Amino acid sequence: MRYLVRHFPFILFLIVTTLVFSIIILVPNYKHYPFEGISDLVLVIGHWSIAAMGMLCLVLLLSLNRYVFMVAFPLFVAVASATALFTWQFDVSINSALIESIFFTNAQEASGFFTFPLLITLLVTLGLSAVAIIFRFRFRWTRRQAYVAILLFVACYSAFWYVNRKRYNTMLQRNPFSYYLATKEYLKERRELSKDRLMVGKGAYTDEDSLLVVFVIGEALRADHVQMNGYHRVTMPNMERRGVVSLPHLFTPYTHTAQSLPYILTRAGADSIDPVATESSFIDAFKESTFYTAWLGNQNPTKTYRFFVGECDTVFVNKPQLSDYSVLKKMDSDLLEPFFGLMEQKRPRMLVNLHFIGNHWWYNSNYPDTFAIFKPIMHSKVISEENREMMINSYDNATLFSDYLLDIIIGKIEQENSLLIFLADHGQSFGEQGKWLHTNNTPTEQNPAGFIWLSQSFREKYPEKVESLMSNRSKTINTSFLFHTILHGAAIHSPYLDVRQSLFSPDYQP
Ligand SMILES: [Zn+2]
Repeated sequence: MRYLVRHFPFILFLIVTTLVFSIIILVPNYKHYPFEGISDLVLVIGHWSIAAMGMLCLVLLLSLNRYVFMVAFPLFVAVASATALFTWQFDVSINSALIESIFFTNAQEASGFFTFPLLITLLVTLGLSAVAIIFRFRFRWTRRQAYVAILLFVACYSAFWYVNRKRYNTMLQRNPFSYYLATKEYLKERRELSKDRLMVGKGAYTDEDSLLVVFVIGEALRADHVQMNGYHRVTMPNMERRGVVSLPHLFTPYTHTAQSLPYILTRAGADSIDPVATESSFIDAFKESTFYTAWLGNQNPTKTYRFFVGECDTVFVNKPQLSDYSVLKKMDSDLLEPFFGLMEQKRPRMLVNLHFIGNHWWYNSNYPDTFAIFKPIMHSKVISEENREMMINSYDNATLFSDYLLDIIIGKIEQENSLLIFLADHGQSFGEQGKWLHTNNTPTEQNPAGFIWLSQSFREKYPEKVESLMSNRSKTINTSFLFHTILHGAAIHSPYLDVRQSLFSPDYQP
């Protein structure tokens, strides 16, 4: 130790500073990680160690020059430790949606975050960073120390980079590195939004003078986990009672939200995927047809579909500070209040898009404890054959909750001339072909759940559309049906509508 102090004071300073701030800033990242048993603990400690190596690289870079260190380090510490506190308290995650909301936050909203615990946190961490600055000014670089520092940097950076790459951004998603990733994503989204697109709303108009269209984008619900399609458990009792027209043989070529959602919303289809990046969505055609359009989302929009969200007249995104993978409750029921608010407005023509978190992974955070009907539910994030049954129980409970919410939503619109389409963006795997969750393009993931509900007055007004729907329901239906079906269902005329892709048409061609 004495040897180190005498010959490598700078290296010692680097390691001690890194350790202290890695404990303060990194440990809260694991607070909400549900783990049981020694193996999970080992995993967390391993993860923390790699993250600490990333911290060492940051501290080293900041301390290359002592004057830079004096200014930059306290700033870094203040932001990172405040974020650490919010992570500890509310499982906050820094993402592009949050970066955007920071820009639009007013002073009053922001002051709500300035609490006593935050004040204490900042006092303590800034005090510690002052100590670090004092020590930094006592050391000068020597050639020997520089070599060691370079070696340390290369080793730590490689480990950090390797693990982060191996397990998709597992490091960069966490404080303080998340600021880098979120800003990068945010800028990418901005670039994406500024691109020119063909606006497919042009020339659209509707025959309807009053119609309510609700489109519910489900998440990761597979068709064969719904009893209307033959599942042995009753997971959607309300939807069955309401006589929805289920579509058991839906097919999506894409099995994760970022890809499948733009495919569903735009004119993209089996013949061409281009419109996801070059055209506006069906929302634009509704708007052009004087529908009032809304997006109520319980998922943070990502760059691939943010443009379409922005097409709406009004947008509500629930709890953007929570990641979609958060273990804290972020439930679709939070969308009911803004939904009711829209209904109060009593507009003659309205399109409401509800983006559910539904059956997204870490299922337990998507439904209230009272909906834990199928038991035992999962306790650990470990995905394995042993946990399979618990995973499925939690998953099916999430479906029960979606069913309950959809029932409330339909109850609100059933007296009107209205229709509701529910379409999950993809399914899910539970170990079939050795695959789990989604993005694997397995048959269970490519067969999402979907159904259509029609109000009595809609049925009376359009008996021929109902008849066509009934005759098309059992076909193998590509999720590209949505664009054309929803426009056709809303009696919208558009040069971009192809009725051969509408389930409401007798000419539908799968
Ligand atoms: Zn998804």
